Amino acid sequence: MRRLEGKVALVTGGASRPGIGFAIAKRLAEEGAQVILTDVDTSGVEESAAMIREMNLSATAMRQDVSLQADWDQVIERILTDFGRIDILVNNAGILDVGEIDSDGAVAGLKRQLSVNVEGVFMGTQAAVKAMRAASQGGSIVNISSVAGKVGFRGSASYAATKGAVKLMTKSVALETAAEGIRVNSVHPGIIRTNMAAEGLEENADNYAAIEAVIPMGRLGEPEDIANCVLFLASDEAGYVTGAEFVVDGGYIAQ
Ligand code: NDP
Repeated sequence: MRRLEGKVALVTGGASRPGIGFAIAKRLAEEGAQVILTDVDTSGVEESAAMIREMNLSATAMRQDVSLQADWDQVIERILTDFGRIDILVNNAGILDVGEIDSDGAVAGLKRQLSVNVEGVFMGTQAAVKAMRAASQGGSIVNISSVAGKVGFRGSASYAATKGAVKLMTKSVALETAAEGIRVNSVHPGIIRTNMAAEGLEENADNYAAIEAVIPMGRLGEPEDIANCVLFLASDEAGYVTGAEFVVDGGYIAQ
């Protein structure tokens, strides 16, 4: 039996390829989950779902802006109507604004990131907890934070503020839901080869080489590295794991 047979999973931010959300959705589907991918990029997320279906796996696309309560209400209602349940939520959608504390537009950037990276994860977690509680069948919520939610990086003050918030809201909710079998954990990727990283590093080969030189494993992470960790947390194999933080970074912040 596959590891997620019979489970229904929602993954946000699934349009980007290469992207962490798409890799997670594909991995969960490979293990038997019925996956729903959402994103603000409507055509991109539809293509992602179609690519997974081409592998003879189950995937549905929905448009969603995670920073809007109305979109959460709509998506969860549609999932419950169409699939009858929600077992797994991966709060993956996120945005990155790079800039030092005194850079132009830093406060506006902070507000943008707070609405997606913090309010989005908060509303999603709340919506999933309500649905999971109503079904009394437990569940797994995985929040994608960052190594920037664990240690400081120059130029990341506003992003770090949002990712640190994700780490601690995860633990607080985990305490509230532990007795009901609803597990809530955070994953902290290092630098992963996606569209976001390409923008952050401005597609410059020297920048990539400089980063690889300081990663103990000598390479950037691939989206699949994160997907495999999320799969474990989503599965019943992680049945005793909640309120925990998982760093997946090739040893980067162990130094
Ligand atoms: P990408 O930018 O490649 O993909 C993110 C996806 O989320 C995009 O499709 C984006 O759409 C979508 N999105 C943005 N805003 C919203 C919104 N309001 N509602 C719904 N969807 C939205 O990022 P990654 O795959 O690299 O990152 C995924 C997660 O991992 C993020 O939370 C990120 O912070 C985190 N992370 C990434 C790291 C990395 O090195 N790549 C390192 C550490 C953490 P659009 O492109 O149209 O904006």
